[in-house]
Amino acid sequence: MPASKVVMGPDGHLIVPDNPVIPFIEGDGIGPDVWSASKLVLDAAVEHIYSGKRKIEWLEILAGEKAFNETGDWLPAESLDIAREYLVSIKGPLTTPVGGGIRSLNVALRQELDLYVCLRPVKWYKGVPSPVVHPENVNMVIFRENTEDIYAGIEFAMGTPEAEKLLHFLVNDLHAGKKIRFPETSAFGIKPVSKEGSERLIRAAIKYALEHNLPSVTIVHKGNIMKYTEGAFKLWGYALAEREFGDKVYTWGQWENARKTQGEDAANARLKRAESQGKLIIKDVIADNFLQQILLSPGDYSVVATLNLNGDYISDAAAASVGGIGIAPGANINYITGHAVFEATHGTAPRFANTNTMNPSSLLLSGVMMLEYLGWTEAAECIEEALATTIKRKRVTIDFYNLMHDATLLKTSEFAQEIIKNLV
Ligand code: NAD
Repeated sequence: MPASKVVMGPDGHLIVPDNPVIPFIEGDGIGPDVWSASKLVLDAAVEHIYSGKRKIEWLEILAGEKAFNETGDWLPAESLDIAREYLVSIKGPLTTPVGGGIRSLNVALRQELDLYVCLRPVKWYKGVPSPVVHPENVNMVIFRENTEDIYAGIEFAMGTPEAEKLLHFLVNDLHAGKKIRFPETSAFGIKPVSKEGSERLIRAAIKYALEHNLPSVTIVHKGNIMKYTEGAFKLWGYALAEREFGDKVYTWGQWENARKTQGEDAANARLKRAESQGKLIIKDVIADNFLQQILLSPGDYSVVATLNLNGDYISDAAAASVGGIGIAPGANINYITGHAVFEATHGTAPRFANTNTMNPSSLLLSGVMMLEYLGWTEAAECIEEALATTIKRKRVTIDFYNLMHDATLLKTSEFAQEIIKNLV
C-alpha cells in the first residue's frame, strides 16, 4: 500500500492510514543514538503485531545542529511545513541555540503549530530505581498549558527604554507604582492567561480522563496569590467542567456550594455518592502544596491540568520520583487540529554524544504515546510490556545500572535489541 498522510477527520478524530508517513527529527547530541534505538523497537513492534499490514514510513526532517550545519538555518521553514502537513511527528532532543534569533527550537515548534497541551505521563516501571519509598503509587498524566503564562516571552530587561515605558505606564496609568519595590532596577515579565487558553487545556484533560476511565482531574494553580490569572484558571476550569460535561463529572466547586447551602456532612455525602457512581471528580490543589502531595500521597492524583510554569516544575519533579530523565516521555499536542510532536523530555547530553550508552526509553516511550495517539494501541502496549520486562530482568543502560544491584550493563543499541527480544 502506498504511504499516505494522517489527517484530521470531520468528527475531530484522526484518520490514520495503514502506512502513514511520520516525519522525525533525529535530534542533536545523544539524539542519533536514542533515535536509532527507538526506531528499531517501534518498527519491530508494529511488524510483530500487524505482520506487515501496518508500517510507518519515516520521513526525516531537519532541525537543530544538523539543520544548521546543512542549511545554515536552525529550524528550516521546510521542516515546519512538513510537520504541519503530516500532523504527527516525533523528535529527539535539540540543542538550544545560544545567542541566536531563536530562543528555543522546542518553543518555536510549539508556537508555530499552536501545540497547546504538553502531555507528560508519569508512571513507574517495576525495578526502575526511584528515590521514593512507594513509586508504584505514582501514575499521573500531566496536562501542562503550553502557549501562555510567563512563558509567552514578554520580558523587558532592566534599564531598557521598554522597561522604563512599562514602569511609567504602571505608575501613572494603573497606579500600581507602590507595588514595585525597586522601580529603577526592575526588569519586567508579563503573564498572560486567557479564558480560551485555559479552557481548551482543561477540556483536553477532562476528555482524556473520561476516555481512559480515570478517577480525577486535579487543577493545580497558585490562585491564592495570583488571583486573576491562576485563580481564574481554576474557576474557569470548574465552570467549564460543569457546563460541558454535566453529570459525567462532580467538581469541588459543587462540593463547596453544597457545603455552604446544606452543610459539610451533606456535601461530603454527595461527593461520596458521585465517586461511587464513577463520576470523574474535578478538584484543585495549590501548586506548592501539590509538590509535596505528589511525594507524600501520589496515589491521590491521576490527571493533572496546570499552567505552563507550574507544569514545568511539576512534570520534572514527578518524573524524578519514578526514575527521572532517561525514561520520562512527552508530547505536545493540539487536539483540535490534530497536530502533535512526540519528544524525549531530556536534553542532548552533549558529553555522551555518539557513545551509544544513554537510555533511549524517554524517546521510545514518546513513540509509544504516538502509537496510542494513532490508535495503534496493541503495538504501544506490547512495547511497554517488553520494556518493563527488560527492566525487571535488570538488563539496562548505564543510568539504571549505576543505581541497581546485580544488573547487566547494556549499550543503547543492545538495550533496544533486548526489548525486541521481549516483545510478546
Ligand atoms: P540534559 O538532559 O541534556 O542532560 C543532563 C544530564 O542528564 C546528562 O548529563 C545525563 O547525565 C542525563 N541524561 C540526559 N538524557 C539521558 C538519557 N537519555 N539517559 C541517561 N541519562 C541522561 O540537560 P542539559 O545538559 O541541561 O542540556 C543540554 C542541551 O540540551 C542544552 O542545549 C539544552 O538547551 C538542551 N535541551 C533540550 C531539550 C529538548 O530538546 N527537549 C530539553 C532539555 C534541554
